[in-house]
Amino acid sequence: MSEPAQPHILHADLDAFYASVEQRDDPQLRDRPVIVGAGVVLSASYQARACGVYTPMGVNKALQLCPDAVIVKPHFTAYSDASKQVFEIFEHTTPLVEGLSIDEAFLDVHGMELLSGSSTDIAAKLKREVRETVGLPITVGVARTKHLAKVASGVAKPDGLLVVPLGGELTFLHPLPVEHLWGVGPVTARKLHNHGIDRVGQIAALEEDALVAILGKAAAHHLHALANNRDPRPVHVGRRRRSIGSQHATGLSRLPSAPDELDVTIVGLVDRVTRRVRAARRVGRTVVLRMRFGDYTRATRSHTLAMATNETQTILSAIRALVTSTMPLIRREGLTMVGITVSNLENDDAFQLALPFGRRPPRAVDAIVDQVREKFGASALTRASQLGRDDGMSVPLLPEPLPD
Ligand SMILES: [Mg+2]
Repeated sequence: MSEPAQPHILHADLDAFYASVEQRDDPQLRDRPVIVGAGVVLSASYQARACGVYTPMGVNKALQLCPDAVIVKPHFTAYSDASKQVFEIFEHTTPLVEGLSIDEAFLDVHGMELLSGSSTDIAAKLKREVRETVGLPITVGVARTKHLAKVASGVAKPDGLLVVPLGGELTFLHPLPVEHLWGVGPVTARKLHNHGIDRVGQIAALEEDALVAILGKAAAHHLHALANNRDPRPVHVGRRRRSIGSQHATGLSRLPSAPDELDVTIVGLVDRVTRRVRAARRVGRTVVLRMRFGDYTRATRSHTLAMATNETQTILSAIRALVTSTMPLIRREGLTMVGITVSNLENDDAFQLALPFGRRPPRAVDAIVDQVREKFGASALTRASQLGRDDGMSVPLLPEPLPD
């Protein structure tokens, strides 16, 4: 791929995750020092951190530092539910998500400018979605490398958004305390301070050999590279990613439940999702239709295909069959949210970038469409029924089969 024209790696990290979930779920805890733990502090709200509470620390010691703190027992089901919701938002943002832990991931948005705007726009939208859908604060760092994106989110916490511009990496990094480098814990920091090294720029200015004498070979090599902003690691899509989905929600108003009108929304969602599945070089076997009705109840319908696929037409047909079978319910209650997901994902070993000549199988149509849009933008190809629509989604498309 071409060199990115903007910093393209996001590090997204929920703020004081467990404590924030507790504050979300119990209004009496908001704006108060909250400690989640039993014996040991597992998470502390920023109000508790202000008194010097950190993780891990004994709860008794934490209470000495922060006598007003409220101690809450952990609710792991709530954390895992919140994590799932947040990762769904990550995965709707880009196919390239590398989960680091329950509340933290790298997202690579390279090449998404045409579809989704600048990486700054994408990061701002991600923050908004997590706040509105899950009710939690999240900090996002944006930079050219993973390390710098993580450093940026660390500097921006809590509830921050910090973009390190291309070319501004060393200006950002060098004045920071050495503790901000990935891998510098209290022990390494003390060794560095003992040699008068307090800032990242001082590490960068040293010969690597001089650093080896202080920290040993492996740590010196690692930190010297980071201090000079050498971090070529790409974002790795982990095993965590088992599905790709997208949804369309209206606030209190309803989606049209007339079959033709609803179909336009469905086509747009299927188009968006299958494009992401193909971009991630994946195929999936199960299609899932999720709905929320006017009375706030929800329903899920799924269908497992005979073979894994990423073809727009095949997945659309399966989703349309699910919609048809649910139509009586949709008519009665009215839809306020519809989402589709392709799951049971596996790698697409047969993924072809080159266009086949001669007879074109259906997937070649998808590949052509994806390539045209990659080159000329999402609106370069539009189905007639989508023209003139503005429903807040990227312009969807279902190609008519090309003539042989
Ligand atoms: Mg976190």
